[in-house]
Amino acid sequence: MAEQTIRIIVAGPRGKMGSETVRLIDETDGFELVAAVDSKNDGKQVADLEGLPSLEAPVYDDLENCLGAVQADVLIDFTNPESGRAHTEMALKNGISPVVGTSGFTEKDVEEFSRLSEESGKGAIIAPNFAPGAVLLMKFARMAAKFYQDVEIIEQHHDRKLDAPSGTAVKTAEMMAQVRESKQQGHPEEQETLEGARGAEVDGMHIHSVRLPGLVAHQEVIFGGESETLKIRHDSIHRKSFMSGVKLAVETVVGLDMLVYGLENILE
Ligand code: NAP
Repeated sequence: MAEQTIRIIVAGPRGKMGSETVRLIDETDGFELVAAVDSKNDGKQVADLEGLPSLEAPVYDDLENCLGAVQADVLIDFTNPESGRAHTEMALKNGISPVVGTSGFTEKDVEEFSRLSEESGKGAIIAPNFAPGAVLLMKFARMAAKFYQDVEIIEQHHDRKLDAPSGTAVKTAEMMAQVRESKQQGHPEEQETLEGARGAEVDGMHIHSVRLPGLVAHQEVIFGGESETLKIRHDSIHRKSFMSGVKLAVETVVGLDMLVYGLENILE
């Protein structure tokens, strides 16, 4: 029996990630773009938007109008924390499974989405990073954190990124904290002579955020031990690096009845 086509709405189709997602849908058998949500192009077709594949899918200026007009299985959101939060809630309340890459959600947000997912019986996937290589980096960092208490994270992104530190850096630190013996790093009497010099902190580990044009998404985790350092690094050099994870998430979410947070939980 032929597999059913997955009907998809994309929120943020003109964005860097959203436009790559539209191209992914266009190139994937079994995926169909049924609509897009873009506050600046209500009433147009996706084909009318500059740089996007010529797909005949209507554009709505908000998700509520869109859901009132089209039937869909999945909403993919790459917008900003505020819109992403509203879209994820609305999708779940309307029986649509969200696949969300938007970063900047709090733990409380994720708990609320999880509750809504359970209530509606619809799956949801939220991933701070859809690049399989970045997820492997997190796993390797977690393995290494059992052996090294001292570790710093340096994450680097393009200068249009709104949130800092990145969701991936926070998740990496949280995963290491699960196995690392807790420690406040640096000298006990350390003082910042310029505020912020030592970066953000999770369980005594420091996170440093670099923002520059030309970068995409990069992360290095540096461990220090007696007379040695260990560095683990991942570089997304194009947004295509995230698309295999987005594809897997869409294929997986339609068979779920709960929320999954993190690509690592569906990779294996
Ligand atoms: P971007 O290029 O700024 O794109 C965001 C797009 O969302 C813009 O086109 C914006 O439209 C649109 N938008 C904002 N609010 C909207 C709404 N209410 N309805 C519809 N569209 C709306 O940003 P990006 O680099 O693609 O990143 C988007 C998000 O994904 C960020 O949170 C980023 O951190 C995250 N991200 C995640 C991953 C991952 O693997 N999980 C990877 C990269 C980035 P306007 O132009 O009209 O404002």
